[in-house]
Amino acid sequence: MDYKALVESYKENLMEDLFGLLEIESVKGEPSKDAPVGTGPKRALDYMLEIGRRDGFSTLDVKNIAGHIEAGEGERIFGILGHVDVVPPGKGWNTDPFTPEIIGDEIVARGVQDDKGPTIAAYYAMKILKDQGAPFKYRTRLIIGTDEESDWQCTAAYFKTEEMPDAGFAPDAAFPLIHGEKGISTFNFVQKQTSLDEDEPRIELKALISGERYNMVPEDAVAKLKVQQNMSEVIQSYEDFLRETEAVGAYEVDNGFLKLSIQGRSAHGSTPEAGVNAGLILLQFLDRLELDNNARAFAEFAMARLVGKTDGSQLDMDHSHTEMGKTSVNVGMINYTEVDGGIFGINLRYPEGMDFNARMDALKNDVSKKGFTIEDLDYQPPHYVDKEDPLVKILTDAYRNHVDDQTEPFTIGGGTYARTLEKGVAFGAMFKETADTMHQKNERMKVEELLKATEIYLEALHRICIKGEMDENQLL
Ligand SMILES: [Zn+2]
Repeated sequence: MDYKALVESYKENLMEDLFGLLEIESVKGEPSKDAPVGTGPKRALDYMLEIGRRDGFSTLDVKNIAGHIEAGEGERIFGILGHVDVVPPGKGWNTDPFTPEIIGDEIVARGVQDDKGPTIAAYYAMKILKDQGAPFKYRTRLIIGTDEESDWQCTAAYFKTEEMPDAGFAPDAAFPLIHGEKGISTFNFVQKQTSLDEDEPRIELKALISGERYNMVPEDAVAKLKVQQNMSEVIQSYEDFLRETEAVGAYEVDNGFLKLSIQGRSAHGSTPEAGVNAGLILLQFLDRLELDNNARAFAEFAMARLVGKTDGSQLDMDHSHTEMGKTSVNVGMINYTEVDGGIFGINLRYPEGMDFNARMDALKNDVSKKGFTIEDLDYQPPHYVDKEDPLVKILTDAYRNHVDDQTEPFTIGGGTYARTLEKGVAFGAMFKETADTMHQKNERMKVEELLKATEIYLEALHRICIKGEMDENQLL
């Protein structure tokens, strides 16, 4: 089968269908009876199911929030998981985000890279195979979600009533292939207020604020202190601290209060070691002062549990996996007020093979002795498909047949849509040289990359679902 020539012959139709989809403003909106995540996502879902029916596939709508387009028969299911909702366009576009345009060699529109372009590419791979007339060995399903960008209610609703594919991929990330994703947990360490000082403390911590999101390293931190005596001594020791640690900071005296600030460097929560956590630096300094009881306990907790390492060892959450790497801990939010006490907002990511619940129980027990509780705990377990699995092998090989790139399949600390499949990997559609414009203004995708991705999906589906290179037993 000449994959390239076949895709080329469908180019015009493919572009037309994609443009129609890109014109739909499928941003999450107000829920209504027949549109649980808003009318935009619902229209995009209807649009896909409609082109599926037009082309002779069977289709299914699941509660107006997800659906599928299906070819073939049989017991087994091979799934492709895409989504047609988009994040809000934001400001600063050079074009209308919902009026797709070709500028130079690129299509510019919200969602073209994430994930409407890749979803249409996968759809055309199915359509071309169907038009070729060879029977599908398995039920081959394009599952379409409409709430990927927010709460994944779409896949939750879909898999409540529909079968889980035996294997599959999500065209919602990058080539060559992502076969592992760390477990992701967020939670808060919440300090219980202790009794007030009996003696007047020398220094009261009124407030400490740093960071706004679990999954970012805080780049600023500000503390407000009431210093009863020897203000100049405290300032002097802050200056010494900044010099010693080479931290970037400043201070200001205002109405008897001392305001300290630290400038760090932001980074994504999956790579805390790449950033400089401003809040933790400031706590290191505060730990040197004669603080009131509550603030002292807060700073001591930070020093013992959070300052110094990002590998989770201070929480006894460290674990390492040959392919997936080590646990990472990001302290994304630090919030302390004299009135309400303190909170640390944690984003923890861990590889395959760690008993998360047992470790978490031990941690809860352990920190309670220091007057802290763990609250708002949320987690998704790691997702991992063996690198030697035929699914990974065939998809990677299909990619290499179209691109001169021997990059190995890899694992990441973040999460992709593929993790909602039991045995699923993320497969495209960004290439090595592709500028990642997902969620950004002027989102774009090269026409050539769109067609190249379609060729790769076509070969992959042809080999798996028509030729049967993965036999039934290998599917699951
Ligand atoms: Zn996406």
